[in-house]
Amino acid sequence: MSTSVPEFRRTVVEFLGRALPGDWAGVGALAAQERREFLDRWRRTLAENGYLGCAWPTAYGGAGYDLVRQSVVQEEFARAGVPHLPWPTDGFSFNLIAPVLLHWGTEEQKRHYLPRMISGEHRWCQGYSEPDAGSDLFNLRTRATRDGDDWVLDGQKTWQTAGTEANWIFVLARTGTREERAKGLSLLLVPLDQVGVTVRPIRTMTGQAEFSEVFFDCARTRVADTVGPVGEGARVALTLLGFERGTASGALHVAHRLELERLVALARRRGRAGDPLVRQRLAWCYGRVEALGQLSRRILARAAGGGPPGPESSVLKLYVSEYHARLTELAVDILGMDAAVASGAPSVAQLGPDPLGSPNTALAWVQKFMIARAATIYGGSSQIQRSTIGERVLGLPREPRVTAPGRAS
Ligand SMILES: Cc1cc2nc3c(=O)[nH]c(=O)nc-3n(C[C@H](O)[C@H](O)[C@H](O)COP(=O)(O)OP(=O)(O)OC[C@H]3O[C@@H](n4cnc5c(N)ncnc54)[C@H](O)[C@@H]3O)c2cc1C
Repeated sequence: MSTSVPEFRRTVVEFLGRALPGDWAGVGALAAQERREFLDRWRRTLAENGYLGCAWPTAYGGAGYDLVRQSVVQEEFARAGVPHLPWPTDGFSFNLIAPVLLHWGTEEQKRHYLPRMISGEHRWCQGYSEPDAGSDLFNLRTRATRDGDDWVLDGQKTWQTAGTEANWIFVLARTGTREERAKGLSLLLVPLDQVGVTVRPIRTMTGQAEFSEVFFDCARTRVADTVGPVGEGARVALTLLGFERGTASGALHVAHRLELERLVALARRRGRAGDPLVRQRLAWCYGRVEALGQLSRRILARAAGGGPPGPESSVLKLYVSEYHARLTELAVDILGMDAAVASGAPSVAQLGPDPLGSPNTALAWVQKFMIARAATIYGGSSQIQRSTIGERVLGLPREPRVTAPGRAS
């Protein structure tokens, strides 16, 4: 019989106590180089102890836990200030393509790809967006043409987060005609280390190069590496977007609570904690984080019942990203003029709240303020989430579709 959830939580806390040094203050407290080395070691520790892919079946290298226990792991790790997915590519591997393979993949694909995500041999990024196909994703032009048992790919993807660190990409490509729009797409697993693929980094306004663009020029992958049926890529892609918007929510409220505590400490340090307007906005943030905890639990309860997330995942995506934009605006207002010439140690997390121990500096908050905008765009912008909620959750009439000149309707 499996252990109860409280017992399981104790096991996770004990593991953290054994695996982390006695003076552990959170991964955010480590200097950049020390942090990189720690994360590589930490990833190996997680793989050896069954904490990577812990909710996958054991046949594919997982630990066979259910989603509730997986979320306990995520919560306790966030409290202890250690990531449950240490590498930037891990989010794409474990939160996106793995659940899609478990849902749509063939037995051969699951047995081949899932264990290689745990070992780190395969590091994934996401190849959806193109220069002219972001919100209007199904207008994409990257083409895959059949050549015997292979697909030959030509085209360009853009905004690939962690693209320079990945060695595999899941690509939404056109295998049918452009007029077929969503009907003519397929989701393909493509190795990046090959002649015919060029990955170029893109530097953003935060000064970091977390993105890249990926060019395909007669790149190849096997037809056997199509996920789901050929021509059904739109359905497979939407399953994946559901996971992107709505899962991995287990630790969200813990991470946002820790970040809010850091902002309260900043307000105190800067003598702004007595300002009624600042207090009112902090109280608003507190209420949002508490409600986030309830929302995450509700989504988890639904997911634990089986099946991929539905359009409700848009509610979580919209809620969290808009909250984070407001919180970081408050941080910049508390900093005042210091935000204009921000100094101090930089922010630690590429996306989302910084982990336990992270610097509480002007520079870290200003970087967070900038990157928080990104979350209202990636995985589908806030406008797109509102339309999805209106049409597919609330059952409101469809938005009128307008076709830009030169696009397939
Ligand atoms: C931090 C970050 C990471 C990303 N990582 C990846 C990645 O790893 N892989 C990947 O493939 N992509 C990635 N993206 C790309 C992301 O998915 C797209 O930026 C996003 O889907 C929006 O597309 P777009 O940039 O082309 O904007 P557009 O689609 O051109 O939209 C421009 C504006 O118009 C609005 N708009 C467009 N259509 C509608 C509509 N029908 N109704 C109402 N408003 C509309 C949008 O809301 C937006 O405000 C990332 C983006 C960011 C910011």
